[in-house]
Amino acid sequence: MRIAGSRQTASSPTCDPAASRRSVASPAIGSGSPRVGWAPVWTATLKPADRAALDPGIPDDLDRHPDVLVVGGGVMGLAAAVFCRRAGLGRVLLIEADRLASAASGGAAGALAPELHHLTDPPAFVQLARSSLALYRQLAQQWNATRLLRWAPGLLLLPDGPPPGLRPWPEVELLDAGQAAELVPDLVPMPAALLARDQARVHPLRLAVALARRAGSVATGVAMTGLQTAGDRIVRVRTTAGVLHPGVVVFATGLAPTPWVSVPQRLVKGHLVATEPVGFRLPCGIHLPGFGIGSLEYGGLLAGGTREEGDRSPQVRDEVIGFIRRRLGELLPAARSARVRHRWCCFRPATADGQPVIDRVAGLGNAWVSAGHDGTGLLLAPATGRALAAWIATGQAPPQVRNFDLARFARSG
Ligand SMILES: Cc1cc2nc3c(=O)[nH]c(=O)nc-3n(C[C@H](O)[C@H](O)[C@H](O)COP(=O)(O)OP(=O)(O)OC[C@H]3O[C@@H](n4cnc5c(N)ncnc54)[C@H](O)[C@@H]3O)c2cc1C
Repeated sequence: MRIAGSRQTASSPTCDPAASRRSVASPAIGSGSPRVGWAPVWTATLKPADRAALDPGIPDDLDRHPDVLVVGGGVMGLAAAVFCRRAGLGRVLLIEADRLASAASGGAAGALAPELHHLTDPPAFVQLARSSLALYRQLAQQWNATRLLRWAPGLLLLPDGPPPGLRPWPEVELLDAGQAAELVPDLVPMPAALLARDQARVHPLRLAVALARRAGSVATGVAMTGLQTAGDRIVRVRTTAGVLHPGVVVFATGLAPTPWVSVPQRLVKGHLVATEPVGFRLPCGIHLPGFGIGSLEYGGLLAGGTREEGDRSPQVRDEVIGFIRRRLGELLPAARSARVRHRWCCFRPATADGQPVIDRVAGLGNAWVSAGHDGTGLLLAPATGRALAAWIATGQAPPQVRNFDLARFARSG
């Protein structure tokens, strides 16, 4: 298949003076994705063979002329690689500075609940999220991956009662206090809640393994350190494993790689805990702004999802863990004395307006970016990967991602 924006003839490695001025040396571009602080519950519940699949190292036959180079081995890069392969875009190479899913993608809570975003996010976001969850369902079936997704309702608590003018939409049901108590007998009395059926949860590292097995050639411990352009094309990518000459580049580095892609962006730290088994199982995921609770396979609870703006330290903060434990006990009194088995933190790559960037890079005909996925990158990954692959294949921006363009930040001043 022909790739829109890819080289139509063998390109010369020479570059113009402007291009060499844009060359950047180490440190790694886009490496603002700190690792997960302390080990998440996901690492402890992963089979050793799967753990090894997340860190294959550098292949002996590293492809230095891939048709598509994906930079970043979080969920976004992995999904982009999988869908580029499925679209028949030729040889795909993914490089990851650390190991796969070593940043937010391996520490996230794993909730896939598009309906719970209806009240807070724009319609374009909810549409993309719904299509992504539908795509997850298809992928799990095609891959015969029966354990990839756990389907369960999502319950959005409304502690102040239904907001004025709330009109439940077809995918949700408004529960009163009695109905909420009947559904979750262990929940503190709640005046109202919105119940969305058919939402899901994923084990983030099992997801990364499933994607990695279908992502083409994967090299870990390889960081992009510089780029060289000629005209409107990237012609060389410098890495810690030498120079690559890709046809097309997809940046999936968490935060967009500066200076090549200019986005107002930051990292937003969040903490999570996993408890010892609690002796009861929640029939649904429980959600509040900045807080969530769900049951884990082994019988413990996953709780947290806090937002610590401005904290760039990889340290797990005792005071935040204390807050999560208190909040958990307030919402589920039966879990008040639950002991914490795992505690960790990781960093959401976020843009100024909270929406992701999924776009072709301005001024570069053969580069795309998927960045700033904030607190919903796992949810959006399949639909985003599919849209990017379609865009690369056809040269046309898929309508589902038009709202996530880079130019919106310039428009909003
Ligand atoms: C506490 C918390 C809870 C969350 N819960 C959920 C949830 O329930 N559901 C949900 O959908 N989302 C959730 N998220 C959000 C989700 O984790 C992120 O949106 C998603 O992981 C972002 O994926 P990514 O691939 O874009 O970025 P990352 O996971 O940050 O991956 C980017 C990768 O690129 C690599 N990289 C960077 N620079 C270079 C370079 N120069 N060369 C090579 N590699 C490079 C990095 O090492 C990194 O591995 C949560 C996030 C947090 C913090």
